[in-house]
Amino acid sequence: MSKIKIEEGRLVVPNNPTIPFIEGDGVGVEITAATQKVINKAVDNAYKGSRKIEWLEVLAGEKSFNATQSWLPNETLDAFKEYLVGIKGPLTTPVGGGIRSLNVALRQELDLYVCLRPVRWFRGVESPIKEPQKVDMHIFRENTEDIYAGIEWYAGTPEAKKFMDILANQMGVTKVRFPETSSFGVKPVSEEGSKRLIKAAIEYAIENKLPKLTIVHKGNIMKFTEGGFKNWGYELAETEFADSTFTRNQYEAIKSAEGVDAANATLSRAKSEGKVYVDDCIADAFLQNTLLTPESYSVIATLNLNGDYISDQLAAMVGGIGIAPGANINYMSGHAIFEATHGTAPDIAGENCVNPCSLLLSATMMLEYMGWKEAANSITVALERMFERGRATHDLARFIDGSTTLTTSQFADEVVELL
Ligand code: NAD
Repeated sequence: MSKIKIEEGRLVVPNNPTIPFIEGDGVGVEITAATQKVINKAVDNAYKGSRKIEWLEVLAGEKSFNATQSWLPNETLDAFKEYLVGIKGPLTTPVGGGIRSLNVALRQELDLYVCLRPVRWFRGVESPIKEPQKVDMHIFRENTEDIYAGIEWYAGTPEAKKFMDILANQMGVTKVRFPETSSFGVKPVSEEGSKRLIKAAIEYAIENKLPKLTIVHKGNIMKFTEGGFKNWGYELAETEFADSTFTRNQYEAIKSAEGVDAANATLSRAKSEGKVYVDDCIADAFLQNTLLTPESYSVIATLNLNGDYISDQLAAMVGGIGIAPGANINYMSGHAIFEATHGTAPDIAGENCVNPCSLLLSATMMLEYMGWKEAANSITVALERMFERGRATHDLARFIDGSTTLTTSQFADEVVELL
Protein backbone atom coordinates (compact mmCIF):
# COMPACT_ATOMS: atom_id res chain seq x y z
CA MET A 1 0.00 0.00 0.00
CA SER A 2 1.49 3.34 -1.07
CA LYS A 3 1.01 6.33 1.13
CA ILE A 4 0.70 9.98 0.26
CA LYS A 5 3.26 11.88 2.34
CA ILE A 6 4.08 15.48 3.05
CA GLU A 7 7.68 16.63 2.73
CA GLU A 8 8.76 20.23 3.31
CA GLY A 9 5.16 21.39 3.05
CA ARG A 10 4.53 19.64 -0.30
CA LEU A 11 2.43 16.54 -0.92
CA VAL A 12 4.33 13.61 -2.35
CA VAL A 13 1.88 11.38 -4.19
CA PRO A 14 2.88 7.89 -5.39
CA ASN A 15 1.41 6.46 -8.59
CA ASN A 16 -0.75 4.00 -6.66
CA PRO A 17 -1.86 5.91 -3.56
CA THR A 18 -4.16 4.27 -1.05
CA ILE A 19 -7.17 6.51 -0.46
CA PRO A 20 -9.42 5.65 2.49
CA PHE A 21 -13.09 6.26 1.84
CA ILE A 22 -16.27 6.25 3.92
CA GLU A 23 -19.10 5.05 1.72
CA GLY A 24 -21.69 7.03 3.68
CA ASP A 25 -25.23 6.20 4.75
CA GLY A 26 -28.45 6.54 2.74
CA VAL A 27 -27.61 7.77 -0.76
CA GLY A 28 -23.90 7.46 0.12
CA VAL A 29 -23.92 3.94 -1.31
CA GLU A 30 -25.08 5.18 -4.72
CA ILE A 31 -22.97 8.32 -5.01
CA THR A 32 -19.79 6.57 -3.85
CA ALA A 33 -20.16 3.82 -6.46
CA ALA A 34 -20.85 6.39 -9.21
CA THR A 35 -17.94 8.60 -8.11
CA GLN A 36 -15.36 5.83 -7.94
CA LYS A 37 -16.35 4.56 -11.37
CA VAL A 38 -15.81 8.01 -12.94
CA ILE A 39 -12.61 8.76 -11.02
CA ASN A 40 -11.05 5.40 -11.91
CA LYS A 41 -11.80 5.95 -15.60
CA ALA A 42 -10.51 9.54 -15.61
CA VAL A 43 -7.24 8.56 -13.90
CA ASP A 44 -6.75 5.56 -16.17
CA ASN A 45 -7.32 7.69 -19.28
CA ALA A 46 -5.22 10.65 -18.21
CA TYR A 47 -2.16 8.61 -17.25
CA LYS A 48 -2.55 5.64 -19.65
CA GLY A 49 -2.74 3.16 -16.82
CA SER A 50 0.43 4.33 -15.06
CA ARG A 51 -1.52 5.74 -12.12
CA LYS A 52 -4.32 4.14 -10.14
CA ILE A 53 -6.07 4.86 -6.85
CA GLU A 54 -6.26 1.96 -4.42
CA TRP A 55 -9.52 2.56 -2.57
CA LEU A 56 -9.57 1.43 1.08
CA GLU A 57 -12.98 1.29 2.69
CA VAL A 58 -13.18 2.49 6.30
CA LEU A 59 -16.31 2.58 8.40
CA ALA A 60 -18.30 5.42 9.97
CA GLY A 61 -21.93 6.28 10.59
CA GLU A 62 -24.83 3.87 10.59
CA LYS A 63 -23.06 1.22 8.52
CA SER A 64 -20.26 1.26 11.06
CA PHE A 65 -22.61 1.20 14.05
CA ASN A 66 -24.48 -1.80 12.66
CA ALA A 67 -21.23 -3.68 12.05
CA THR A 68 -19.11 -2.64 15.06
CA GLN A 69 -21.39 -0.85 17.57
CA SER A 70 -19.22 2.21 17.08
CA TRP A 71 -20.22 5.27 15.04
CA LEU A 72 -16.63 6.26 14.41
CA PRO A 73 -14.11 3.46 15.07
CA ASN A 74 -10.51 4.37 15.92
CA GLU A 75 -9.35 2.43 12.84
CA THR A 76 -11.15 4.95 10.66
CA LEU A 77 -9.47 7.93 12.30
CA ASP A 78 -6.12 6.11 12.15
CA ALA A 79 -6.55 5.45 8.41
CA PHE A 80 -7.25 9.13 7.66
CA LYS A 81 -4.25 10.10 9.83
CA GLU A 82 -1.97 7.60 8.13
CA TYR A 83 -2.94 8.06 4.47
CA LEU A 84 -3.42 11.87 4.72
CA VAL A 85 -6.02 12.20 1.95
CA GLY A 86 -9.48 10.61 2.08
CA ILE A 87 -13.05 11.03 0.97
CA LYS A 88 -16.43 10.52 2.56
CA GLY A 89 -20.10 10.22 1.72
CA PRO A 90 -22.78 11.73 3.98
CA LEU A 91 -23.32 10.24 7.42
CA THR A 92 -26.40 9.82 9.54
CA THR A 93 -26.01 12.00 12.61
CA PRO A 94 -26.37 9.79 15.72
CA VAL A 95 -29.50 10.72 17.67
CA GLY A 96 -29.12 11.29 21.43
CA GLY A 97 -25.91 11.27 23.50
CA GLY A 98 -22.37 10.39 22.49
CA ILE A 99 -20.99 12.06 19.39
CA ARG A 100 -22.63 15.36 18.49
CA SER A 101 -21.63 15.15 14.83
CA LEU A 102 -19.32 12.67 13.11
CA ASN A 103 -18.19 15.35 10.67
CA VAL A 104 -17.21 17.68 13.49
CA ALA A 105 -15.38 14.84 15.25
CA LEU A 106 -13.35 14.08 12.11
CA ARG A 107 -12.52 17.77 11.58
CA GLN A 108 -11.44 18.24 15.19
CA GLU A 109 -9.40 15.05 15.39
CA LEU A 110 -7.37 15.96 12.28
CA ASP A 111 -7.46 19.72 12.94
CA LEU A 112 -8.86 20.33 9.44
CA TYR A 113 -8.94 24.09 9.80
CA VAL A 114 -10.01 24.99 6.24
CA CYS A 115 -13.42 24.19 4.82
CA LEU A 116 -12.92 24.86 1.11
CA ARG A 117 -15.97 25.26 -1.11
CA PRO A 118 -15.40 26.27 -4.73
CA VAL A 119 -18.56 27.64 -6.34
CA ARG A 120 -18.97 27.75 -10.12
CA TRP A 121 -21.84 27.44 -12.51
CA PHE A 122 -22.22 24.79 -15.21
CA ARG A 123 -23.86 26.05 -18.40
CA GLY A 124 -27.31 24.51 -18.69
CA VAL A 125 -28.00 24.21 -14.96
CA GLU A 126 -30.98 26.31 -13.83
CA SER A 127 -30.06 29.18 -11.51
CA PRO A 128 -32.19 31.73 -9.60
CA ILE A 129 -29.84 34.54 -10.66
CA LYS A 130 -29.75 36.29 -14.05
CA GLU A 131 -26.11 35.84 -14.93
CA PRO A 132 -24.81 32.74 -13.14
CA GLN A 133 -21.83 32.58 -15.52
CA LYS A 134 -20.37 35.42 -13.46
CA VAL A 135 -20.11 33.22 -10.34
CA ASP A 136 -16.61 31.90 -9.72
CA MET A 137 -15.87 31.98 -6.02
CA HIS A 138 -13.74 29.94 -3.65
CA ILE A 139 -14.83 30.01 -0.02
CA PHE A 140 -12.26 29.45 2.73
CA ARG A 141 -14.33 28.93 5.87
CA GLU A 142 -12.51 28.69 9.20
CA ASN A 143 -13.39 25.29 10.59
CA THR A 144 -12.17 25.11 14.20
CA GLU A 145 -13.10 28.29 16.07
CA ASP A 146 -15.88 30.86 16.43
CA ILE A 147 -19.23 30.28 18.09
CA TYR A 148 -19.06 26.80 16.51
CA ALA A 149 -16.48 25.67 19.08
CA GLY A 150 -19.47 24.40 21.07
CA ILE A 151 -18.76 26.31 24.31
CA GLU A 152 -22.22 27.19 25.54
CA TRP A 153 -24.47 26.82 28.56
CA TYR A 154 -28.22 26.57 28.71
CA ALA A 155 -30.24 29.16 30.66
CA GLY A 156 -30.81 28.27 34.30
CA THR A 157 -27.99 25.70 34.59
CA PRO A 158 -25.38 26.12 37.34
CA GLU A 159 -22.80 26.79 34.59
CA ALA A 160 -24.86 29.59 33.06
CA LYS A 161 -25.36 31.11 36.52
CA LYS A 162 -21.66 30.85 37.29
CA PHE A 163 -20.77 32.43 33.96
CA MET A 164 -23.21 35.29 34.56
CA ASP A 165 -21.77 35.74 38.02
CA ILE A 166 -18.23 36.09 36.62
CA LEU A 167 -19.46 38.54 33.99
CA ALA A 168 -21.31 40.69 36.51
CA ASN A 169 -19.01 40.54 39.52
CA GLN A 170 -15.54 40.09 38.05
CA MET A 171 -15.79 41.69 34.61
CA GLY A 172 -18.21 44.50 35.42
CA VAL A 173 -20.58 43.53 32.61
CA THR A 174 -23.96 45.22 32.89
CA LYS A 175 -25.25 44.71 29.38
CA VAL A 176 -26.99 41.32 29.72
CA ARG A 177 -30.65 42.26 29.35
CA PHE A 178 -32.21 39.20 31.07
CA PRO A 179 -29.44 37.61 33.20
CA GLU A 180 -31.66 35.02 34.93
CA THR A 181 -33.00 33.51 31.71
CA SER A 182 -30.05 33.86 29.35
CA SER A 183 -28.15 31.03 27.72
CA PHE A 184 -24.53 31.85 26.92
CA GLY A 185 -22.10 30.97 24.14
CA VAL A 186 -18.43 31.82 23.81
CA LYS A 187 -16.88 32.89 20.51
CA PRO A 188 -13.13 32.24 20.49
CA VAL A 189 -11.29 33.73 17.51
CA SER A 190 -7.50 33.65 17.68
CA GLU A 191 -4.76 35.42 15.76
CA GLU A 192 -3.12 32.06 15.05
CA GLY A 193 -6.33 30.43 13.83
CA SER A 194 -7.27 33.43 11.69
CA LYS A 195 -3.84 33.77 10.12
CA ARG A 196 -3.46 30.11 9.19
CA LEU A 197 -6.86 30.20 7.44
CA ILE A 198 -6.14 33.46 5.60
CA LYS A 199 -2.63 32.27 4.70
CA ALA A 200 -4.15 29.19 3.02
CA ALA A 201 -6.59 31.42 1.12
CA ILE A 202 -3.85 33.81 -0.10
CA GLU A 203 -1.63 30.92 -1.19
CA TYR A 204 -4.55 29.33 -3.03
CA ALA A 205 -5.23 32.64 -4.84
CA ILE A 206 -1.57 32.94 -5.83
CA GLU A 207 -1.29 29.32 -6.99
CA ASN A 208 -4.49 29.46 -9.02
CA LYS A 209 -3.79 32.96 -10.38
CA LEU A 210 -6.97 34.37 -8.88
CA PRO A 211 -7.16 38.17 -8.71
CA LYS A 212 -8.67 38.94 -5.34
CA LEU A 213 -9.16 37.85 -1.74
CA THR A 214 -12.05 39.30 0.26
CA ILE A 215 -12.09 38.95 4.05
CA VAL A 216 -15.78 38.69 5.01
CA HIS A 217 -16.62 39.56 8.62
CA LYS A 218 -18.94 41.37 11.06
CA GLY A 219 -16.14 43.43 12.59
CA ASN A 220 -18.34 46.51 12.66
CA ILE A 221 -20.26 44.88 15.55
CA MET A 222 -17.92 42.21 16.99
CA LYS A 223 -14.78 44.30 16.99
CA PHE A 224 -12.30 41.98 18.65
CA THR A 225 -13.39 38.61 17.24
CA GLU A 226 -14.62 39.34 13.71
CA GLY A 227 -12.69 42.63 13.65
CA GLY A 228 -9.58 40.80 14.85
CA PHE A 229 -9.98 38.31 12.00
CA LYS A 230 -10.02 41.19 9.50
CA ASN A 231 -7.08 43.04 11.08
CA TRP A 232 -4.91 39.92 11.32
CA GLY A 233 -5.73 39.14 7.70
CA TYR A 234 -4.51 42.54 6.48
CA GLU A 235 -1.46 42.30 8.72
CA LEU A 236 -0.56 38.90 7.29
CA ALA A 237 -0.98 40.08 3.69
CA GLU A 238 1.13 43.19 4.27
CA THR A 239 3.97 41.34 6.01
CA GLU A 240 4.32 37.69 4.95
CA PHE A 241 2.83 38.27 1.49
CA ALA A 242 4.09 41.81 0.87
CA ASP A 243 5.54 40.82 -2.52
CA SER A 244 2.45 39.08 -3.85
CA THR A 245 -0.48 41.14 -2.51
CA PHE A 246 -1.76 44.72 -2.53
CA THR A 247 -4.32 45.59 0.14
CA ARG A 248 -7.16 48.05 0.37
CA ASN A 249 -5.45 49.55 3.46
CA GLN A 250 -2.41 50.28 1.31
CA TYR A 251 -4.65 51.73 -1.38
CA GLU A 252 -6.35 54.03 1.15
CA ALA A 253 -3.02 55.14 2.60
CA ILE A 254 -1.72 56.15 -0.86
CA LYS A 255 -5.03 57.85 -1.61
CA SER A 256 -4.91 60.06 1.47
CA ALA A 257 -1.21 60.88 1.04
CA GLU A 258 -0.96 61.29 -2.74
CA GLY A 259 -4.51 61.41 -4.08
CA VAL A 260 -6.86 59.02 -5.85
CA ASP A 261 -4.99 59.00 -9.18
CA ALA A 262 -1.79 57.83 -7.52
CA ALA A 263 -3.73 55.14 -5.61
CA ASN A 264 -5.44 53.92 -8.79
CA ALA A 265 -2.14 53.86 -10.67
CA THR A 266 -0.56 51.74 -7.93
CA LEU A 267 -3.55 49.40 -7.94
CA SER A 268 -3.35 48.97 -11.74
CA ARG A 269 0.36 48.27 -11.54
CA ALA A 270 -0.18 45.71 -8.76
CA LYS A 271 -2.83 43.98 -10.88
CA SER A 272 -0.62 43.92 -13.96
CA GLU A 273 2.13 42.33 -11.86
CA GLY A 274 -0.32 39.56 -10.92
CA LYS A 275 -0.59 40.59 -7.27
CA VAL A 276 -3.65 39.48 -5.30
CA TYR A 277 -5.80 42.44 -4.23
CA VAL A 278 -6.88 41.96 -0.60
CA ASP A 279 -9.96 43.79 0.64
CA ASP A 280 -12.76 43.12 3.13
CA CYS A 281 -16.55 43.25 3.24
CA ILE A 282 -19.16 43.19 6.01
CA ALA A 283 -20.97 39.84 5.88
CA ASP A 284 -24.52 41.14 5.33
CA ALA A 285 -23.44 43.49 2.54
CA PHE A 286 -21.42 40.65 1.07
CA LEU A 287 -24.47 38.36 0.84
CA GLN A 288 -26.36 41.09 -1.00
CA ASN A 289 -23.43 41.91 -3.29
CA THR A 290 -22.95 38.29 -4.31
CA LEU A 291 -26.45 38.37 -5.79
CA LEU A 292 -26.05 41.78 -7.45
CA THR A 293 -22.42 41.67 -8.66
CA PRO A 294 -21.05 38.14 -8.23
CA GLU A 295 -18.16 38.96 -10.56
CA SER A 296 -16.73 41.26 -7.86
CA TYR A 297 -15.56 38.30 -5.80
CA SER A 298 -13.05 35.53 -6.21
CA VAL A 299 -11.46 34.00 -3.08
CA ILE A 300 -13.30 34.55 0.19
CA ALA A 301 -11.88 34.08 3.70
CA THR A 302 -14.38 34.04 6.53
CA LEU A 303 -15.12 32.73 10.00
CA ASN A 304 -17.07 29.57 10.76
CA LEU A 305 -20.64 30.82 11.18
CA ASN A 306 -20.52 33.36 8.32
CA GLY A 307 -18.99 30.62 6.18
CA ASP A 308 -21.91 28.32 6.89
CA TYR A 309 -24.47 30.85 5.61
CA ILE A 310 -22.33 31.98 2.69
CA SER A 311 -21.68 28.42 1.48
CA ASP A 312 -25.37 27.61 1.26
CA GLN A 313 -26.36 30.84 -0.45
CA LEU A 314 -23.62 30.56 -3.06
CA ALA A 315 -24.42 26.87 -3.64
CA ALA A 316 -28.06 27.78 -4.24
CA MET A 317 -26.97 30.38 -6.82
CA VAL A 318 -25.41 27.70 -9.04
CA GLY A 319 -27.75 24.73 -8.68
CA GLY A 320 -27.96 23.67 -5.05
CA ILE A 321 -26.56 21.00 -2.75
CA GLY A 322 -26.67 18.18 -5.30
CA ILE A 323 -23.82 19.82 -7.17
CA ALA A 324 -21.84 21.63 -4.45
CA PRO A 325 -18.46 20.09 -3.58
CA GLY A 326 -16.37 20.61 -0.46
CA ALA A 327 -13.20 19.66 1.37
CA ASN A 328 -11.80 19.97 4.88
CA ILE A 329 -8.07 20.53 4.81
CA ASN A 330 -5.06 21.11 7.06
CA TYR A 331 -2.52 22.54 4.62
CA MET A 332 0.29 22.23 7.17
CA SER A 333 -0.05 18.51 7.95
CA GLY A 334 -1.46 17.68 4.50
CA HIS A 335 -4.53 15.97 6.00
CA ALA A 336 -7.63 16.42 3.86
CA ILE A 337 -11.08 14.88 3.69
CA PHE A 338 -13.18 15.57 0.60
CA GLU A 339 -16.91 15.17 1.08
CA ALA A 340 -20.40 15.41 -0.29
CA THR A 341 -21.87 18.58 1.19
CA HIS A 342 -25.44 17.27 1.36
CA GLY A 343 -26.86 14.78 3.85
CA THR A 344 -27.94 11.15 3.49
CA ALA A 345 -31.19 12.13 1.67
CA PRO A 346 -33.19 9.27 3.26
CA ASP A 347 -36.28 10.26 1.21
CA ILE A 348 -34.63 9.12 -2.04
CA ALA A 349 -32.07 6.57 -0.80
CA GLY A 350 -32.03 3.35 -2.81
CA GLU A 351 -34.00 4.82 -5.72
CA ASN A 352 -31.03 5.32 -8.05
CA CYS A 353 -32.05 8.94 -8.66
CA VAL A 354 -29.65 10.90 -6.43
CA ASN A 355 -27.31 13.40 -8.08
CA PRO A 356 -23.75 12.11 -7.59
CA CYS A 357 -22.11 15.44 -8.56
CA SER A 358 -21.45 16.80 -5.06
CA LEU A 359 -19.24 13.81 -4.23
CA LEU A 360 -17.91 13.54 -7.78
CA LEU A 361 -16.82 17.19 -7.84
CA SER A 362 -15.33 16.76 -4.35
CA ALA A 363 -13.34 13.80 -5.67
CA THR A 364 -12.28 16.01 -8.58
CA MET A 365 -11.02 18.57 -6.04
CA MET A 366 -9.14 15.69 -4.40
CA LEU A 367 -7.37 14.90 -7.68
CA GLU A 368 -6.41 18.59 -8.01
CA TYR A 369 -5.12 18.58 -4.42
CA MET A 370 -3.01 15.52 -5.29
CA GLY A 371 -1.64 17.33 -8.34
CA TRP A 372 -3.44 14.99 -10.78
CA LYS A 373 -4.84 17.97 -12.66
CA GLU A 374 -5.19 16.31 -16.07
CA ALA A 375 -7.60 13.72 -14.67
CA ALA A 376 -9.47 16.41 -12.74
CA ASN A 377 -9.84 18.66 -15.79
CA SER A 378 -11.18 15.82 -17.92
CA ILE A 379 -14.02 15.25 -15.44
CA THR A 380 -14.90 18.95 -15.35
CA VAL A 381 -15.04 19.06 -19.14
CA ALA A 382 -17.21 15.92 -19.26
CA LEU A 383 -19.65 17.43 -16.74
CA GLU A 384 -19.79 20.67 -18.74
CA ARG A 385 -20.80 18.61 -21.80
CA MET A 386 -23.42 16.66 -19.84
CA PHE A 387 -25.19 19.76 -18.53
CA GLU A 388 -24.91 21.67 -21.82
CA ARG A 389 -26.75 18.78 -23.45
CA GLY A 390 -29.38 18.76 -20.70
CA ARG A 391 -28.37 15.33 -19.38
CA ALA A 392 -28.87 15.35 -15.62
CA THR A 393 -30.42 13.58 -12.65
CA HIS A 394 -33.96 14.45 -11.61
CA ASP A 395 -33.08 17.24 -9.11
CA LEU A 396 -31.57 19.35 -11.93
CA ALA A 397 -33.31 17.96 -15.02
CA ARG A 398 -36.76 18.98 -13.75
CA PHE A 399 -35.77 22.65 -14.12
CA ILE A 400 -33.99 22.38 -17.50
CA ASP A 401 -36.14 22.79 -20.63
CA GLY A 402 -35.81 19.87 -23.05
CA SER A 403 -33.60 17.90 -20.68
CA THR A 404 -33.33 14.15 -20.20
CA THR A 405 -33.66 12.73 -16.69
CA LEU A 406 -31.02 10.12 -15.99
CA THR A 407 -30.68 7.71 -13.09
CA THR A 408 -27.58 7.96 -10.90
CA SER A 409 -25.92 5.01 -12.60
CA GLN A 410 -26.90 6.18 -16.10
CA PHE A 411 -25.39 9.59 -15.32
CA ALA A 412 -22.12 8.00 -14.18
CA ASP A 413 -22.05 5.70 -17.23
CA GLU A 414 -22.55 8.62 -19.62
CA VAL A 415 -19.76 10.61 -17.95
CA VAL A 416 -17.50 7.56 -18.27
CA GLU A 417 -18.43 7.29 -21.97
CA LEU A 418 -17.60 10.97 -22.52
CA LEU A 419 -14.25 10.49 -20.81
P1 NAD B 1 -30.22 16.12 3.10
O1 NAD B 1 -29.14 16.94 2.46
O2 NAD B 1 -29.92 14.69 3.28
O3 NAD B 1 -31.56 16.25 2.22
C1 NAD B 1 -32.25 17.49 2.02
C2 NAD B 1 -33.11 17.38 0.74
O4 NAD B 1 -32.25 17.48 -0.41
C3 NAD B 1 -33.84 16.06 0.59
O5 NAD B 1 -35.07 16.28 -0.03
C4 NAD B 1 -32.94 15.25 -0.34
O6 NAD B 1 -33.63 14.30 -1.11
C5 NAD B 1 -32.33 16.33 -1.23
N1 NAD B 1 -30.98 15.97 -1.67
C6 NAD B 1 -29.85 15.96 -0.91
N2 NAD B 1 -28.81 15.59 -1.63
C7 NAD B 1 -29.25 15.36 -2.88
C8 NAD B 1 -28.62 14.92 -4.08
N3 NAD B 1 -27.30 14.67 -4.14
N4 NAD B 1 -29.39 14.73 -5.17
C9 NAD B 1 -30.71 14.98 -5.13
N5 NAD B 1 -31.37 15.40 -4.02
C10 NAD B 1 -30.64 15.58 -2.91
O7 NAD B 1 -30.55 16.81 4.51
P2 NAD B 1 -31.43 16.26 5.72
O8 NAD B 1 -32.65 15.55 5.19
O9 NAD B 1 -31.61 17.42 6.60
O10 NAD B 1 -30.53 15.21 6.50
C11 NAD B 1 -30.64 13.80 6.40
C12 NAD B 1 -29.53 13.15 7.25
O11 NAD B 1 -28.25 13.52 6.76
C13 NAD B 1 -29.56 13.54 8.73
O12 NAD B 1 -29.19 12.42 9.51
C14 NAD B 1 -28.47 14.59 8.82
O13 NAD B 1 -27.94 14.70 10.11
C15 NAD B 1 -27.45 14.04 7.84
N6 NAD B 1 -26.53 15.04 7.28
C16 NAD B 1 -25.26 14.63 7.06
C17 NAD B 1 -24.36 15.50 6.46
C18 NAD B 1 -22.95 15.03 6.22
O14 NAD B 1 -22.62 13.89 6.54
N7 NAD B 1 -22.09 15.85 5.67
C19 NAD B 1 -24.77 16.78 6.07
C20 NAD B 1 -26.11 17.16 6.27
C21 NAD B 1 -26.98 16.28 6.87
